[in-house]
Amino acid sequence: MRVFKMKKGNIVPFLRSLEEFGEVWGPVKKGDNYVYAHEDPEKFDLSALRTLIPAKKFFLPQKSTILKFKNGNWYTHSDCKKRVIFGLHPCDIHALNIYDEFYTRVYEDPYYKSNKEATLIIGLSCLPDEHCFCNLTDTSTVEKGFDLFFTELEDKFLVWVGSPRGDDILAKRSDMVEDITKEDIKDYIEWRKRRENMFKVDLSFTGLPEIVSASYDSDIWDKMGSACLSCGTCTMVCPTCTCFDVEDEYDIRADEMNRNRKWYSCMFREYSLVAGGHNFREARAERLRLWYTHKLVGFMSEYGDPACVGCGRCVVSCPVGINVLSIVRALTGEKNDAFWAKTEVKQI
Ligand code: SF4
Ligand code: SF4
Repeated sequence: MRVFKMKKGNIVPFLRSLEEFGEVWGPVKKGDNYVYAHEDPEKFDLSALRTLIPAKKFFLPQKSTILKFKNGNWYTHSDCKKRVIFGLHPCDIHALNIYDEFYTRVYEDPYYKSNKEATLIIGLSCLPDEHCFCNLTDTSTVEKGFDLFFTELEDKFLVWVGSPRGDDILAKRSDMVEDITKEDIKDYIEWRKRRENMFKVDLSFTGLPEIVSASYDSDIWDKMGSACLSCGTCTMVCPTCTCFDVEDEYDIRADEMNRNRKWYSCMFREYSLVAGGHNFREARAERLRLWYTHKLVGFMSEYGDPACVGCGRCVVSCPVGINVLSIVRALTGEKNDAFWAKTEVKQI
């Protein structure tokens, strides 16, 4: 993998120049959160950590029309646009690599694939806060899944080239980058050491699939179920959650129809409701167990890695403190501050 360096002052002109490829999106502050926005790159906040909604929204939009019915015929429909997404952190890129596995390996999703191909992915390094645990999920650095990756050091960026497309982009802007020196490598190693020491979450993920599988009948799920609000926030913010629903929107006067795909959540009661009124996962405890066994066990056996990249979004978003960390602590008997861990309430 080739590596260059870029002066800090070149980042904004560089990103502006990428508008010739497509809309340039990056992280900006909105209220208390960060979101991806199509703004002038001057407004991008390079210190942004996790965005509220992850980058999956560019590849599997929250709602999109996939088919249209008009004049008695169905037509495929796509809102695919050429875009540049700047500011994805290593965990975000790992999550997109999981999406690639899910949406292209066995059954290729043409909408996902065209959105992915139309998007330039430009990663950016980050410094963890107290909720990040990508060091424990082995996703704190990334080797594939990006076109370019910027590591921000004190006085410069190091720029990793991750694809032939990324190589072409830098070749066209060779006046903006320089070759790296031994001093740059030394600075990078120092930065890595400093970053590694910043992770605060202390938890063992070793043997997790076995522990989760063996805990199938644990009353921990009932305790969590009695606290869970079934709001679905955890699944919406999780960068590796893939579920969607398909519904038809019929305009009876025009005799036209849109077939829409929209994000859905296995935390919703209707998720496992089938014709005839039977619900396979009526209880919230059952739905929580499904989510965590799928993420931490099912994905492991199917793809070799868990579907958690340690981004901390569920940790900061769940209103009742149910998240990967509190669940692992509960299942492994470690100290757990979540209020539901201390209750004895049974969820039906
Ligand atoms: S389970 Fe939580 S920490 Fe893991 S990837 Fe999903 S939102 Fe991030
Ligand atoms: S675990 Fe938390 S975020 Fe997820 S559905 Fe339950 S209450 Fe909502």
